[in-house]
Amino acid sequence: MRYTSRIAVIQARAARIDAAISRQAVGTLPAVSGVMDPISRRRFLATLAAVNSSASLVDAQFAASGDALSREARDRMTPARVIDELKRGNERFCDGAGEAYDYRRQQRMTASGQYPAAVILGCIDSRAPAEIIFDCGIGDLFNARIAGNVVNDDLLGSLEFSCVTAGAKAIVVFGHTACGAIKGAIDNVKSGHLTTLLAHITPAVAETTFVGKRSSTNTTFVDAVARTNVRRSVDAIRRGSVQLADLEKRGEIQIAGAMYDVATGVVEFIDVSGIRLQQHIIPRHRHA
Ligand SMILES: [Zn+2]
Repeated sequence: MRYTSRIAVIQARAARIDAAISRQAVGTLPAVSGVMDPISRRRFLATLAAVNSSASLVDAQFAASGDALSREARDRMTPARVIDELKRGNERFCDGAGEAYDYRRQQRMTASGQYPAAVILGCIDSRAPAEIIFDCGIGDLFNARIAGNVVNDDLLGSLEFSCVTAGAKAIVVFGHTACGAIKGAIDNVKSGHLTTLLAHITPAVAETTFVGKRSSTNTTFVDAVARTNVRRSVDAIRRGSVQLADLEKRGEIQIAGAMYDVATGVVEFIDVSGIRLQQHIIPRHRHA
């Protein structure tokens, strides 16, 4: 089917969905933000299960096959294994040895259900696309992107959806070098809605212990602040979400921090265990 024909089919389907929605009482829809009550959540999960039961997904290893990730393959993995697979994916990316994914095949396989293994909280930076850098396919990752990979209530909701509702095993706060949002926070930029967003990063500037020029033109300082910012986001997730903190304490998910180097393509996982911001020692030298 040609693209234009597909669009016509999609538009016809959208019209039918719109008509159905207009007949449906709003009160019957499950909550999409905040914590669902147990009955709503069970109903929501039952709906998901009904939708997914028609899927005939091939059992596949995460990021090690051209197939889409199945529920069984995802659920067999420990959180640590998920992080290992992400590291292996980044190695393949750096080696220029990425999987030859058949995206159209994965798109068809995931149409009736998705079982992502991890959720990435990354920056909007065009040089930091998580799926490519971790050599993942369609359906492998939830991908939450916001300038400066900061955390707010809506993002906590997205992370809770990913892990609590949909079963992802790992959260990776995914900062990167040469980040424009970090530079903006260092420069105390005031501009429209950006002002509010950068306010989430500003404390990381002061909290970064650094010997040298504390300026947005000093790339070493910019990257040091970005590392502090990753740790702050991990901290914000642990403090801000009782649900996610509990899952992590029970070992059902892992919350990780990582820095992506736009110059080398390497993702470095940084230690965020037992995080206490005041005790962090920020490296004085460029880590790349
Ligand atoms: Zn950035």
